[in-house]
Amino acid sequence: MTFKTPEVEAEFDSVSTFLHLMAKDFETASKLFAGQDIVITRVKEHICGDSGVHEAHRAFDVRDEFDGKRLFTDDQVKSLVDHINTLYPRNDGKPTCIHHSFNCGPFHFHIQLALLTTAYEAVKSGEQNSGN
Ligand SMILES: [Zn+2]
Repeated sequence: MTFKTPEVEAEFDSVSTFLHLMAKDFETASKLFAGQDIVITRVKEHICGDSGVHEAHRAFDVRDEFDGKRLFTDDQVKSLVDHINTLYPRNDGKPTCIHHSFNCGPFHFHIQLALLTTAYEAVKSGEQNSGN
């Protein structure tokens, strides 16, 4: 597992262990399904127009598109997204992991810890900013 910048790595170190678990599982699946390691590109940084889950420290992004090229095939993307959503189902019907391009930016995986899970209730204690 590598990071886009040392700043992103420092941010990742400071977020909940539950996100670390999800990233570890994503990394394992990426090696299995695609034979490659993952690059975490964003943790807390807010992008204009997004829902605020990064600011709330409940999400991280994993690189797919870089320099105009995709690192994963469509089949690998589907396998990874399905795997994470099966491992970490949400109780509000929304996916934990999606693959998308935001505001015409590069394609990436977005992995989000739901607010409405007992797991999240266990880790959010002490946090003032719960976002949505
Ligand atoms: Zn994201």
